[in-house]
Amino acid sequence: MELLNLHRIVDVTAAEGPGLRCAVWTQGCSVRCPGCFNPQTWTTRGGTLVPWQDLVSRVLAIEGIEGVTLLGGEPFDQPSPLGEFAAAVRAAGLSVMTFTGNVLEELPPSKLLDSTDLLVDGPFLADRPELSRPWVGSVNQRFHFLTDRYDESIFTTPNRLELTIAPDGAIELNGFATTEVLEALLEGDHR
Ligand code: SF4
Repeated sequence: MELLNLHRIVDVTAAEGPGLRCAVWTQGCSVRCPGCFNPQTWTTRGGTLVPWQDLVSRVLAIEGIEGVTLLGGEPFDQPSPLGEFAAAVRAAGLSVMTFTGNVLEELPPSKLLDSTDLLVDGPFLADRPELSRPWVGSVNQRFHFLTDRYDESIFTTPNRLELTIAPDGAIELNGFATTEVLEALLEGDHR
């Protein structure tokens, strides 16, 4: 049974792609962009190993989502089990958005690529921050519409930053924000 190595799952978010989505962060990244916001995902140790079929069951039980977003870590470091997962959720009608720190032209063929509707590619470049397009961190990152499920109309979606406070007081942030915005939030400065 092929296992996925996962870092984090958010069942429903409006901050990681078009519409409401389940966001899945994978554990392990071989790309290692300087300035990465998720360096804790670089190692392949410390993640949670899950049969891909179990993740399919979990995702298909979530109500109200239009798709799944796969983020890193580097999803294409696990193309086989993630490809099986992506193909299964797409067969059930969900869309698949996948982020990669590689560029499309250098990705080898894979079931994950074949099962992705919307691919966002390219490494994060800390010195070239993106200020207008949603979901991406730097201007070099490209959106590839690999199927007709999405088109340029997704760019009307504003960037969102979601803050979730768990019953135990733990705070989780997802979405994309500049370092300045995060620092202002943490300092209680909401200009
Ligand atoms: S590909 Fe993503 S997770 Fe990996 S180093 Fe770059 S920004 Fe970080």
